[in-house]
Amino acid sequence: MSPANLYYFDNNATTPVAPEVVEAMLPFLTEKWANASSPYRIGREVAKHIETARERVAALINADPEEVVFTSGGTESINAAVQSALLVEPRKRHVVTTAVEHSATLRFCESLEKRGYEVTVLPVGTDGLLDASLLEQAIRPDTAIVSIMWANNETGVVFPVKEIADICRQKAVPFHTDAVQTPGKIALDVQTVGVDLLSLSAHKLYAPKGVGALYIRRGTKYWPYVIGGQQEDGRRGGTESVANIIGFGVAASLAHSKVDDVTRRVGAMRDRLENTILNTIPNTRRNGAEAPRLPNTSNISFGSIEAEGMIVMLDNIGVCVSSGSACTTGSLAPSHVLTAMGINADRARASLRFSLGLYTTEADVDYLVANLPGIISRLSAP
Ligand SMILES: *Cc1c(COP(=O)(O)O)cnc(C)c1O
Repeated sequence: MSPANLYYFDNNATTPVAPEVVEAMLPFLTEKWANASSPYRIGREVAKHIETARERVAALINADPEEVVFTSGGTESINAAVQSALLVEPRKRHVVTTAVEHSATLRFCESLEKRGYEVTVLPVGTDGLLDASLLEQAIRPDTAIVSIMWANNETGVVFPVKEIADICRQKAVPFHTDAVQTPGKIALDVQTVGVDLLSLSAHKLYAPKGVGALYIRRGTKYWPYVIGGQQEDGRRGGTESVANIIGFGVAASLAHSKVDDVTRRVGAMRDRLENTILNTIPNTRRNGAEAPRLPNTSNISFGSIEAEGMIVMLDNIGVCVSSGSACTTGSLAPSHVLTAMGINADRARASLRFSLGLYTTEADVDYLVANLPGIISRLSAP
């Protein structure tokens, strides 16, 4: 999966493509290249495989296959969900979200504000947790949708989605959740939680980039975002990215079957990594609540040592980590997630996110904890 001598601790940014996913995709790049909308046999055969993938993605979240629409990824699904709610209820011009969402939600909401919509951005606590009672007060008669992530990509903090869904249901406002970080890490069930719309991205679960899904609960009014052909039952135009969808299906089954394994095995490695760093490197602190939290994610600040330097030195020895979300790396701005938690700019800039995955080994953790203290002491030398 990974090149030799690579120690990959950035699985929340993207994941390697699982070998069984690559294998399942290959026939759709070689002999099974037909258009799934074509009327002849080879087209119909491809269409059948897309439906199998849809069943697999549906099973991952306990939905019906007809409630799953394939998209180009998490960003499109999120944009589509929010936009649809505004278009189906044109008199409702208010959206509720949180300060720690992915840029796919936050930047989209900013663009809505420029077009005259109103957005309420809920704050989080110093532990990154959301107080659901704030949501209750934020919902207004003209609220078109509530869009709140299931789990945060930077801290791993898990939001009380069931409580949020209950409030939305009671107020008759549709609830969309960005669940991109959750598959294969915690169990996802759209029935028990009661969400109306849910976004997924394949490249966060060991499938290729450029494909995702939007779950649309049966009965939810939906206005398509990408409009063209009648693909996806008229809910998303454009010729299907067949091989990617097939890969996504296989990865969804893989994620579904590995949840317990990840929670136990990856969770134990994450805890060992985190505890070793916190106990052996001075001035380190965990960012975000210890629980509820994804089992694979750890966000730690290192005194006042800038993340950029740590990332470069770790990269030099083959270790991949990031500071905050990949989409903002390269800019010197501190993470908006850590800032929203009341963490000051210096500490936020001194923070690294370690995100483990299915292919992380104990040896990877050993290598990192053996090399990190030296790097930190070199960077802290006056
Ligand atoms: C990666 C990510 C997205 C964006 O998904 P893409 O498929 O890369 O567009 C959205 N939300 C969260 C929480 C993410 O981690």
